[in-house]
Amino acid sequence: MHNQASLVTSEEPLRILLWDIDGTLIRSARTGAFKDYTIPMLEGVFGTSGRLAEMKVSGMTDLQIVAEALRPEGFTHEHIRERIDHLRERYMEEMHKATSNGAEFFQVLPGVREVLQEVADHPRYQSALVTGNIEAAAYLKVELVGLSNFFSLPGAFGDESHDRRDLPGLAAERIRSKLKLDLLPQQFIVIGDTPNDIACAHHFGARALAVGTGRLYSAEDLMKCRPDAFIPDLSNLEAVMQTLASL
Ligand SMILES: [Mg+2]
Repeated sequence: MHNQASLVTSEEPLRILLWDIDGTLIRSARTGAFKDYTIPMLEGVFGTSGRLAEMKVSGMTDLQIVAEALRPEGFTHEHIRERIDHLRERYMEEMHKATSNGAEFFQVLPGVREVLQEVADHPRYQSALVTGNIEAAAYLKVELVGLSNFFSLPGAFGDESHDRRDLPGLAAERIRSKLKLDLLPQQFIVIGDTPNDIACAHHFGARALAVGTGRLYSAEDLMKCRPDAFIPDLSNLEAVMQTLASL
């Protein structure tokens, strides 16, 4: 009754790469460009964007961003959850509007395409998204920059929790079930640009690879959070592959 896949044990060298999107794979052409669509979305769903305009949101999930923006207006997590379908719908409407004027809204960070291709061709690795973006927004972003083919495994997204630490476990459960493999937490590597990426990796028991391409945190800030490895950017393919091999 066991198929071949179910007999593969955690001794296998497989590593699952859980990729953050913003600041790791891509960045917006302008700082704060996400407000072009999140402010009208919040105004459309809740009648106010609260304090969003003044917030720095790197590493937060979209649900967390919404909750923190609207807290001064008296909205609770429950109020937000009640309107989650409307929120998702307006979010995507506004995002399509903001990104469809032909200008390049998002840029792929240096080396990213090459690294994703290299790990896709390597039997030790498979890739999934673990991002603070709501799911549809995450897939739109990677599609807009031509990276969507690299993420064949199910991930976890920012409309599933206001706490990023929940996300690696959610993704792992889906990936184990899809691959029919009993993967250990330490076979997962979270790759991200913020302290929250490192914290969510460690909360789950995964490895954390911090990258220095985010706009908000310096190498020093990230090192304080004790990632398992740090790399300034993904532009040196050989260095990235060596770092991944050590994890
Ligand atoms: Mg990020």
